[in-house]
Amino acid sequence: MPKQQQALFDDAIRRLEQVADHTRVDDEVLSVLKHPKATLEVSIPVRRDDGSLSIYHGYRVRHDDTRGPTKGGIRFHPDVSIDEVKALAFWMTFKCAVVGIPYGGAKGGVCVNAKELSKLELERLSRGFMRQIADFVGPDTDIPAPDMYTNAMIMGWMMDEYSRIARRHTPDVITGKPIPLGGSLGRADATGRGAYNCIKQLERIKEWEPKQITVAVQGFGNAGQAVARLLHKDGYKVVAVSDSKGGVYSSEGFDVPSMIRVKSESREVKAMYCDGSVCEAVDARNITNEELLALDVDLLIPAAMENQITESNAADIKARHIVEVANGPVTSRADGILKDNGIMVIPDILANAGGVVVSYFEWTQNRQGFYWKLEDVHSRLEEIMAREFRNVHDISSERKIDMRTAAYVHALDRLGSAIEAQGTEQYFRAGG
Ligand code: NAD
Repeated sequence: MPKQQQALFDDAIRRLEQVADHTRVDDEVLSVLKHPKATLEVSIPVRRDDGSLSIYHGYRVRHDDTRGPTKGGIRFHPDVSIDEVKALAFWMTFKCAVVGIPYGGAKGGVCVNAKELSKLELERLSRGFMRQIADFVGPDTDIPAPDMYTNAMIMGWMMDEYSRIARRHTPDVITGKPIPLGGSLGRADATGRGAYNCIKQLERIKEWEPKQITVAVQGFGNAGQAVARLLHKDGYKVVAVSDSKGGVYSSEGFDVPSMIRVKSESREVKAMYCDGSVCEAVDARNITNEELLALDVDLLIPAAMENQITESNAADIKARHIVEVANGPVTSRADGILKDNGIMVIPDILANAGGVVVSYFEWTQNRQGFYWKLEDVHSRLEEIMAREFRNVHDISSERKIDMRTAAYVHALDRLGSAIEAQGTEQYFRAGG
């Protein structure tokens, strides 16, 4: 197990202990939240196209279901480990509580390099994983969704496999499905849009003039592209973007829709401004991911993966604000350094919650059999994101704590009141 990931769940618990001092929740609440409710480890045999058999390992963790069925994505990645999945499930519990949707947290993953599989092998793996976890998930118990290297089509296969096992059509077992299979309009860009809704609240509070605000986005994938596109449309200057191969920088700012177009033709971000037609008018240069993180910008948006800003590079960060679109891009030790340097961090459990909010909309639409217009999805998402951003910001201002601590306090208040409503030691002792 990679050392970095082993530390991830410990890091999540360390953060919980740090915020506990700012809340009045019962100690029992913290004890409950430090332990995932259930973990499942499975092996998935997959027949390869050449006739050979490969065995993959996968996990599903349900962290806490006090506030409702658990919810969380499934990722396909070679570095997936039980500790990483536990940490991601923990974050989902807090994320759902921050935005006040009636879910607990879960996560799943398969240890695989999906890029090395053919499409048929990927379908066999997806269906095989669902067969192994079918007794653990369900529309009223645990509802998966896409995450890194899984997509709508994979969700569709998994929904179909579950429906075959259940012998009834069960679209509400999984979200992030293709629209014709019961997916919601507006789910594809919901995470980026939710982060954009948060940034618009920040804009209001800080009285920003968008044209004067520079933005760097690490990770130009689904979520990173969506937030960059929406900010660009409002006049923000997106001066740098990157992917796993490297990045590009232009002090003038990029035309984001052109970049998305080129990237979708499966070209690397790095190559875009060197030999593509979009480069001609722009004075751009290649940069590394390390350089991107250290750029002197107003807004840094890590939208790639966890553990990107650590105690070893936190002191190099010059951005005034960080909006965490990825899960866990800033470690708890880096947090202190950023705080000392006056950098405001909008935490992942708030900033990237748009995806799970629209997943919740998808699940409610599936259960009702009644589908919403895109405008309704956008306006209901904005309403939730703006309301909860303001709630967290108010807690942060009133108690003079940073936004991350405030978001955890807000979530812990909701989780604590749900867990305490089932009775604590204090209650049972008083009852005799
Ligand atoms: P994605 O696979 O579509 O995009 C990820 C991008 O990051 C890719 O462009 C990849 O090349 C790039 N990348 C990978 N490693 C990198 C590195 N070291 N430096 C720079 N770029 C790198 O994934 P996504 O769905 O956009 O998710 C991105 C992050 O957002 C993940 O942490 C994910 O957990 C989180 N997130 C996504 C959603 C969602 O709905 N998509 C919801 C909540 C959180």
